[in-house]
Amino acid sequence: MKQIYLYNTLTRKKEGFKAICDMKVKLYACGLTVYSEAHIGNLRAYIFDDLLRRVLESDGYEVKHAMNVTDVGHLVGDGDEGEDKLELGARREKTDPLALARKYEEKFFEDLRNLNVELPHKVVRATEAIKEQIELIKLLEEKGYTYKDEFAIYFDTSKLLDYGKLTGQKLEEKKVGAREEVVVDSGKKNPQDFALWFFLAGKYEDHILHWPSPWGEGFPGWHIECSAISRATLGQPFDIHLGGVDHIGTHHTNEIAQSEAAYGLPLAHFWLHNEYLMVDGQKMSKSLGNVYTLADLKKKGFDPVDFRYFILGGHYRSKLNFTWQALEGARATLRKIRALEDIPSALENSGKEDIKAKVRAALFDDLDTPRALAILHEANDFSLWKDFENVLALDIEAVETREIPSEVRDLAKRREEARGKKDWQSADQIRGEIEKLGYGVEDTGEGIKLRRK
Ligand code: AMP
Ligand code: ZN
Repeated sequence: MKQIYLYNTLTRKKEGFKAICDMKVKLYACGLTVYSEAHIGNLRAYIFDDLLRRVLESDGYEVKHAMNVTDVGHLVGDGDEGEDKLELGARREKTDPLALARKYEEKFFEDLRNLNVELPHKVVRATEAIKEQIELIKLLEEKGYTYKDEFAIYFDTSKLLDYGKLTGQKLEEKKVGAREEVVVDSGKKNPQDFALWFFLAGKYEDHILHWPSPWGEGFPGWHIECSAISRATLGQPFDIHLGGVDHIGTHHTNEIAQSEAAYGLPLAHFWLHNEYLMVDGQKMSKSLGNVYTLADLKKKGFDPVDFRYFILGGHYRSKLNFTWQALEGARATLRKIRALEDIPSALENSGKEDIKAKVRAALFDDLDTPRALAILHEANDFSLWKDFENVLALDIEAVETREIPSEVRDLAKRREEARGKKDWQSADQIRGEIEKLGYGVEDTGEGIKLRRK
């Protein structure tokens, strides 16, 4: 195991990572609000989560990765203003909010699989954790952190001395900022107070999704789901909380306020945030209407891993500008890497070990993928790219394999199992079946290769 360094938004420093419990890491990432397709800016966030998880795993950690899916409660603004995004989407598509949510959740997971993102071990929808959210609000109420008006139950941020510690802003500055960005509900005591539970009143009188609660029918505010779901899946404190930089000021700040006030413990030790994917100098976002989806990229003939490579070419803490030209560049580079497969390695083993150590050092230095890729390009050796495939996941060998029918791939898997059990007879028989389907199996020192005959 080597030391991994990560930039912690909470301390504003790069710190040596240490897990709470030995070699086990508990990781929570905010999931998508599933009211329309994920755009490729959102997908940058999930490639980043996946990269971190793979880097930790490559260092021997056992990662437990949990994520929510927001299918209720996220209003058009991050504060308490605007309409529920799910209800807005449902009206747009003339369907009901939950049908809409399931449709886009499915598409989201398909995108993640396409991008070789390892799916979280635990995924919980906000609507499946209503009980936990109510329990948490009850606890906050018992401890005197809440107040209510006719529209909602609010969290009273003035009860916390360190509200806003994640942003590093003083409360006074935050108040000024909040006044500008939030349409203040007249019942709120402080502009940065936020809703924990909305009642079916005022503009939410006809909210479609609602549940009974000790305070009456209503629905949860957006931030409470992550506090409740992270606790239910990982406990508190857990090791690392992830999300995009847009979540620092409101969503994550409010998660910290709720969880730490309720349980008197830190929520997470490390907070990591990915920067924006930009288009023409602006954040890619649905509200600005400048979004592309993975389906748009595929329509233009790109492979999802071309986009993965493009993302890894930037450091996660730097803004990255999306252009079609840059994506073409990524595709061409991946082709070059794949073409190295047929060129015999010119490096001695000791030389390879040296380079591997440098690549690892770059990755362990706050996930410096641009540096890691540059070192691998300079070495220009296919076996080295392969050594880091567990972290980079660029399908450098598998282009052909992915085009091979699943029937053939399943047979190859069964043949491997038979070989594992030294059942040579079955292995040979399965090879025959594979050949009948028009494919050849090659046993290499590092596994098998399937090729069209
Ligand atoms: P949301 O559905 O709004 O909660 O967003 C899902 C994830 O995408 C969050 O982690 C956001 O911070 C992240 N995100 C949204 N827009 C961008 C963008 N343009 N670039 C990178 N990450 C983004
Ligand atoms: Zn969250």
